[in-house]
Amino acid sequence: AKDAGRGVYHFFDAALNKQVRTLSLLKRELCDALLQDQFFLEYQPQIETSTGRVTGVEALVRWQHPTRGRVPPCDFIPTAESTGQIAAMSEWILREACKQSVQWAAMFGRSIPVAVNLSAIQFKRGRLVETISTILSGTGLPPASLTLEITETVMIHDVDEVEMQLRKLVTLGAKIAIDDFGTGYSSLAHVRQLPIDQIKVDRSFVTDMLVNHRDAAVVEAVIALGRNLGVTVVAEGVETREQMEYLRAMPSIDAQGYFIAKPMRPPQCQTWLSKNLRP
Ligand code: C2E
Ligand code: CA
Ligand code: CA
Ligand code: CA
Repeated sequence: AKDAGRGVYHFFDAALNKQVRTLSLLKRELCDALLQDQFFLEYQPQIETSTGRVTGVEALVRWQHPTRGRVPPCDFIPTAESTGQIAAMSEWILREACKQSVQWAAMFGRSIPVAVNLSAIQFKRGRLVETISTILSGTGLPPASLTLEITETVMIHDVDEVEMQLRKLVTLGAKIAIDDFGTGYSSLAHVRQLPIDQIKVDRSFVTDMLVNHRDAAVVEAVIALGRNLGVTVVAEGVETREQMEYLRAMPSIDAQGYFIAKPMRPPQCQTWLSKNLRP
């Protein structure tokens, strides 16, 4: 029994060791990535379902690793969060997205609002509001053209603290969206307490809404909630014409998903915008 115990101990020790090694390797790689411009953004359009009008684009970070190729955000954002590197990364992402929005607005003669994802831990380490304020004035982006997407994991922290920071961001003029709505804890309490402008219905509800009446019921309830609160509702992950038609029949909802457009690099997104913006 003692031997077995030791074996187990060694096993965990080795596993832990490996974990620590991978983490510090990844940490160094993320640091290099920032310095060597290995990150870039893709943009995915959002449209109003009833009219097809383009309402904005969401910026999504990409990492082109020198040897491992394209690393998906789910494989490095959590690490960047745990090492604290998310702050520097996010600052770069915000500035880049704001610059792009300014450039497109000038090019197309209308605002092209941009949405940027924030991580929960950014609300913990102070300087979020100052950073965003500096970036807005530095890039000249009208604050109303910036939407900050937060997920409900943000509320793991002190909700009142988060609320205070969100109110400051709203005072700056930025918009707030609740991302992945319906998957977190006590969504309704947050919707009531926080100064939000938009609710994004999680893709999981949209995916099955045509085959599962329970999912459809959730989507419809969120649309009604949005209308009653006076906030816009966006359906995420719209992949088929049938889903799009279904949503078009709803009172008012925006959509984002592969059916409309995949996330695209700036030149491709620019081409898409030039074809899809109406005068
Ligand atoms: P999210 O914010 O919910 O972003 C939407 C994700 O759904 C994106 O995945 C997008 O490529 C994908 N998607 C869009 N339309 C469709 C569709 O029709 N079908 C399917 N199956 N997927 C669709 P991506 O880019 O891999 O990002 C995953 C998550 O990583 C994001 O989820 C977000 O939580 C996080 N993330 C991405 N970029 C950033 C960033 O700049 N900062 C932070 N903090 N997180 C980010
Ligand atoms: Ca998002
Ligand atoms: Ca989402
Ligand atoms: Ca998500």
